[in-house]
Amino acid sequence: MKPQTPRQQLIYDYLRKKKTALSAYDILDEFRDHGFRAPSQIYRVLNKLLEFGLIHKVESLSAYIACEQEHDIGQSFLTICNGCGIVKEIPNASFVENLDKLDGLEGFTPQELVVEVKGRCSICN
Ligand SMILES: [Zn+2]
Ligand SMILES: [Zn+2]
Repeated sequence: MKPQTPRQQLIYDYLRKKKTALSAYDILDEFRDHGFRAPSQIYRVLNKLLEFGLIHKVESLSAYIACEQEHDIGQSFLTICNGCGIVKEIPNASFVENLDKLDGLEGFTPQELVVEVKGRCSICN
């Protein structure tokens, strides 16, 4: 899936350029000149990009990053540096792939998996 509108493309390209996660307010500040006036307009675009699997929400930061990996929609495994704020997506984590084989699920059907690991990146260490 690709962005479907110029606004989606604009915000998607901006998130891809950035290494840190951005909030809707960060994005609004950047694009006020492009006709965005309210956070709700930004959220509308972000929700579409989430639906297409093009970005991830970093739940613990209430912020967003571009998805850089090929994977099922509804999965994200991210590392977040407490020093510089860089967010990285970990590809093909085997426990993500094998979630339905975990012990103790007992009839529970997983629909979404969000793993966020906070720590320090190799530069901030
Ligand atoms: Zn992703
Ligand atoms: Zn760092």
